[in-house]
Amino acid sequence: MHHFFVKPNQVENGQIRITGSDVNHGKNVLRIRPGEEILVSDGCGMDYICQVYSLDETSILAQITEKETKSRELPAFITLYQGLPKSDKMELIIQKAVELGVTRIVPVATKNAVVKLEGKREEGKIKRWQAIAESAAKQSKRSRIPQVSGVINLGQALQEGAVCESRLIAYEQEEGMAGTKRELLKISGGQRIAVLIGPEGGFDECEVQAAAKAGFCPVSLGKRILRTETAGLSLLSVIMMKLELMYWA
Ligand code: SAH
Repeated sequence: MHHFFVKPNQVENGQIRITGSDVNHGKNVLRIRPGEEILVSDGCGMDYICQVYSLDETSILAQITEKETKSRELPAFITLYQGLPKSDKMELIIQKAVELGVTRIVPVATKNAVVKLEGKREEGKIKRWQAIAESAAKQSKRSRIPQVSGVINLGQALQEGAVCESRLIAYEQEEGMAGTKRELLKISGGQRIAVLIGPEGGFDECEVQAAAKAGFCPVSLGKRILRTETAGLSLLSVIMMKLELMYWA
């Protein structure tokens, strides 16, 4: 079934109006015809099974036939604060993080990040990253499109993260798994969770100290040094599993 995203205000009186570039794509690439069933998500967690009613130059009109009540979303809001990695790595990180259920991805400029993103180049990158998040959300049939924010510095990330009930900073020099175990056990449904991962060059010690002062718990991901893209994805996987397992006795 083809999957579309709309804004909640495009859902009205049992009908959904799809507009923008999705119209041409739906008509001419997917060759959708009246009567066909489609899946539409409002980006805020509601999914609708619809029957296409009509298609014209500017919109696809669809009749809601069923509201999907079984949400595929995790019962928590996870923000990945990712130290800016080199080359195209961010694309892989975004795609996989979205598959693993992340709510938001924030690229962070840190002391040891070699990549600097500013101005027009940053704008272009964020746009591309947002598109990757959207297509990954579609692929994994999520009903929320995770947002990719503009680049912020570590101080801003620590400040922003203060609203989260769980705050973790992955640090390879953290000894033992006690902190990791304690923090993972604390994670539960309804929480806001902040996950902070360093770039290739890792965090500077003073950055980890600042994070700890801001309430981020330094956690080890085991005895091996992981690449930045592996570190975030492994921590997100464990959090995702922990939250999924909550549904089961
Ligand atoms: N430059 C460092 C490694 C950086 S790895 C070195 O060579 O020693 C990039 C990031 O991944 C780190 O900043 C950290 O956030 C995370 N990371 C990698 N391995 C980790 C581990 N074993 N435990 C916790 N975090 C880890």
